Amino acid sequence: MSFGTAVITPRWQYVLAGATPKSFGDPVLVDETLAQVRPESIEAQDAVGIGIHTANALRGYEIGKMARERGAYVIFGGIHATLYPEEALELGGAHAVVKGDGDIAWAKALADCRAGSPKSVYVGGQIEASDFVAARWDLVPRSRYMWASVQTVRGCPKHCSFCSVWRTDGQRPRQRASDVVIEEIVQLRRLGFRFIALADDNFYPVTLTDLSLAAKQRNTARLNELESIRAERFDLMDRLAQLPDDMVFFTQITMEAAEDPEFLDAMKAARIKGALVGVESVTPEGLKDVYKDFNLAGENLTERLRTFRRHGVHVLGSFIFGLPSDRPETFAATAAAAISADCTFAQFVMLSPYPGTVDFNRWEKSLGDDPPTVAGVPLTRRWLIPQSLRPKLYWDHPVMSAEEIRSRTQGVWDSFYSWGPIWRRSRFIKSSRGRLAFVLISRIYRLMYADTGIATDSARVTWSGRWARWMAKPCRSLFAGSPMPDLQVPAARRPRLESPSLVSLPS
Ligand code: SF4
Repeated sequence: MSFGTAVITPRWQYVLAGATPKSFGDPVLVDETLAQVRPESIEAQDAVGIGIHTANALRGYEIGKMARERGAYVIFGGIHATLYPEEALELGGAHAVVKGDGDIAWAKALADCRAGSPKSVYVGGQIEASDFVAARWDLVPRSRYMWASVQTVRGCPKHCSFCSVWRTDGQRPRQRASDVVIEEIVQLRRLGFRFIALADDNFYPVTLTDLSLAAKQRNTARLNELESIRAERFDLMDRLAQLPDDMVFFTQITMEAAEDPEFLDAMKAARIKGALVGVESVTPEGLKDVYKDFNLAGENLTERLRTFRRHGVHVLGSFIFGLPSDRPETFAATAAAAISADCTFAQFVMLSPYPGTVDFNRWEKSLGDDPPTVAGVPLTRRWLIPQSLRPKLYWDHPVMSAEEIRSRTQGVWDSFYSWGPIWRRSRFIKSSRGRLAFVLISRIYRLMYADTGIATDSARVTWSGRWARWMAKPCRSLFAGSPMPDLQVPAARRPRLESPSLVSLPS
């Protein structure tokens, strides 16, 4: 669904633009959240790069086939193409697929296309942070996006069963030096972006527990590595704190950061005002289901989430429904926990087997060699099923039907984002204008992510799309700032590390 306005810039496009050799000229960037690609804009001998994840793979294949028919070279990349390169080659008209990081491999694929001999697969792998390419923000249509996105670290040391990040991006945090991150952020503020998402897998790659374990084991080399990564985080936050005070940052973080008041205080000073925290489940059984028992449950969970808020960091709590241990009463308990934990925003997703995850492998195996089909497509390739026919839930639940889980999930979205609770949650904002903006943003969030994702009623989906589009336009101006072309890059105030951009953990 194209909204005309998008929330966050698709960072990978601007990174690949940065990775495109000058001899090819400036790439044309198309974000289908804003508007669909125009076939007539593609000419023979063009190179068309298409980034896909599982949810939009089918649309990506349509575009790939169309571009190939028009005589262009077609190169696929992204998580889904990394996992299923043969699919893009067979169904998406791909001449080539880049697996893994595209920062270096993209230029090789382009050069081979120019020579008329692209390889089927380019292995981009997991490159070092020092090789990450800076994004070409000079190409961004400033007025179309609310938030810009900058990545500071790739990879996550955890191993949640529903998540593919640790398998595709690796468990070794690859952290960029604060020098290059702050350069990018200043460039964005110069253009007028005030709101920036630190689009990291996990902004808190080293926990206090990791440090104390390394110290206990007297593993000096590891301890030094961990401390270097941590010091670099603080250096970055210190420099963010020196930027204009109208800037706001948002990131994604594990709940363990709440044990680390020094880190939370640094986040507050840096104006990292919000973080997505993967709560997943409010019960110990649910956390075990997803290999996330480093999270807390019950009263301890509420207290830990409130700690973020006490330190000035708002929480977007992310909850999963449909876990084997969920029961009908889990839904109301989760909604109540999200409210009592002071979550400013929340998202409620239904457990889905995503390729590249432990859950997916288990599910695929459980369906055997002859899985059920929908419209002739095996369920284990569910992303190839036409959108309108796709089931909403893929695995049998011990006590609830798929429809019960879907409608109860919808009910939790409805109750968390109804007018009264949103208005009450806006109490932390002093001005009426600010409170109204908060209400508007909460409603847009719900319309963009709840109704379009899990509603079965097509009238509701169409209505939501229209409203989200209509409301997103006035909202956009709330996020914009005046350009500051002369803004300088703040210097590091802490003692510098010896080689911060290359610090890494063993896998
Ligand atoms: S869900 Fe979050 S914490 Fe778990 S592996 Fe993925 S990125 Fe890491």
